[in-house]
Amino acid sequence: MADTGEDGCAVDCREMFARLSEYVDGELPENLCEELARHLDGCTPCEAFLRTLKRTVDICRQLPPKPLPPALRDELRALIERERPR
Ligand SMILES: [Zn+2]
Repeated sequence: MADTGEDGCAVDCREMFARLSEYVDGELPENLCEELARHLDGCTPCEAFLRTLKRTVDICRQLPPKPLPPALRDELRALIERERPR
């Protein structure tokens, strides 16, 4: 009956970024796509990220496992670098 004010993010945003940076260079694992989709469903802080991520998830869902298009990869990278403390 303690009220932990935790609504929204089930997965930490930073963790998402960390994982993203892992796969930006390679393929998109299905697991991650699901997690991303879930996270985006309940996470407002990821708003800026959201557009790019949504596109990414969209690509994920379109099946044939492909590397990210260079433009999108670039965008993701920039976003991830921004979020990452140096
Ligand atoms: Zn988030």
